[in-house]
Amino acid sequence: MSVVVVGAGLAGLTAATELAARGIEVTVLEARDRVGGRTHGIEVAPGQWADAGAAYLGARHTELKSLIARLGLATVPTTMEGRSRFSVGGGPQTVDGRFPPLNAIALGGLFEQLDEVTKAVRQDAPWLTADAERLDRLTAAEWIERQVPHPDARLFFPLFLGEMMAADPADVSVLHMAFYLCSGGGIRYLNAFQGGAQEERVDGGAHRLSELLAAKLGDRVLLGHPVRAVEQTGDRLRVHSDRGVHEGEAVVVALPPLLADTIEYRPGLPVPRSSQATGRGCAVKVQLVYPEPLWREHGLSGWSVSSDGPLLSTVDDSPPGGVGILTGFVTGSEARSFAALDGPSARQAVLDQTRRLFPQLPDPIGYHVTDWISDEYSRGCYAALFGPGDWLTAGPHLTTPHGGVHWAGTETSTEFFGLMEGAIRSGRRAAEEITGS
Ligand SMILES: Cc1cc2nc3c(=O)[nH]c(=O)nc-3n(C[C@H](O)[C@H](O)[C@H](O)COP(=O)(O)OP(=O)(O)OC[C@H]3O[C@@H](n4cnc5c(N)ncnc54)[C@H](O)[C@@H]3O)c2cc1C
Repeated sequence: MSVVVVGAGLAGLTAATELAARGIEVTVLEARDRVGGRTHGIEVAPGQWADAGAAYLGARHTELKSLIARLGLATVPTTMEGRSRFSVGGGPQTVDGRFPPLNAIALGGLFEQLDEVTKAVRQDAPWLTADAERLDRLTAAEWIERQVPHPDARLFFPLFLGEMMAADPADVSVLHMAFYLCSGGGIRYLNAFQGGAQEERVDGGAHRLSELLAAKLGDRVLLGHPVRAVEQTGDRLRVHSDRGVHEGEAVVVALPPLLADTIEYRPGLPVPRSSQATGRGCAVKVQLVYPEPLWREHGLSGWSVSSDGPLLSTVDDSPPGGVGILTGFVTGSEARSFAALDGPSARQAVLDQTRRLFPQLPDPIGYHVTDWISDEYSRGCYAALFGPGDWLTAGPHLTTPHGGVHWAGTETSTEFFGLMEGAIRSGRRAAEEITGS
């Protein structure tokens, strides 16, 4: 049997590895000139890497952890010791812990309401959630407007959603928000560093996972092969890329939904993978490099949250014993405005903000920006955002094969949707579907 896999992110490479292990002839067609998709490494100093894409993982990411071990990689803890800096609705302040200096009762109430809606969702089939139609029509912006009157909770909510989903409240349905939070392990796990989804990073960068998987697959992975069409006749499938035609008895399309829909299927799909309402998560990552993690000398953790941007939050992503890396997250509408600036203006805005937030620090010695918004082969970072109507229309078909076409990608996983863990689980599921084992 032979299978063509479209996309060499974690999902496609996992599917290909599982299929190859079962003796199946496999070819992976990747559009970019690199593997790894939404994981990507930047060498910020000789031998020291920053994650320009996905970075964090926690104990519940069991498939990812076992892949890291199988590939001989290690993890490093994400450092979160010291005081935080907050600039939310006023000038910057230094605060113990990670809780913002806003009305604690109002924020507690917001989290209770989020918890309630998250616990009510059917994670395995969100479209079967009680009241799914109403929750799928309502945006998170409308929800907060109706449910949460306190100005501090309203100020904090978009920052929370930006951090969790790289989304503006107007861009996601309540059903999707609730599903996403539930699928990722619940609000507390998703939001936490120690004991949560941000506890660790892959030593040397998350992109190493895909590089090592691809190295094992060798010349079965073809770079620079954007796929344009998949044609099925009888039990043969023909996959047309810009560089030629590849045949197989099954195809795994391991792409986010908006990109899966750019491929022409013959015969056509009964239900498209996305709709006009499907949004792109919007994230720009900024990495500021210092000779060492200098903020620690001032009792700071490097963690900050700001409502005035461009960096809505910063995290200490320094490799142990190496340079200091402060990673800044620009998300949602702030990311769209930031990405529209020319390079020097964007850099100036970041430096001005960093000087306000961390006046003790000198200017960084390195500055790296990764704009995922305009990336033609991602279209949605951290992940696609299901807008009003999407779960009820496309949800029930997300993993249903179309003849010999099978679907993978983190957006097809109801467990850890949008995360590396979801991508790996989806790749395994697609391989099992094809082989029946
Ligand atoms: C800034 C950022 C931060 C993130 N943070 C985290 C985090 O901390 N923890 C976490 O777990 N996750 C995080 N994520 C999400 C994580 O990166 C993704 O969930 C995961 O990498 C998705 O893998 P995938 O294989 O499903 O998709 P992708 O990685 O998108 O892979 C799809 C592949 O298909 C290729 N492709 C696209 N179109 C075509 C075509 N027509 N023909 C052939 N190939 C094509 C693409 O180039 C790509 O290589 C983050 C993502 C971003 C961008």
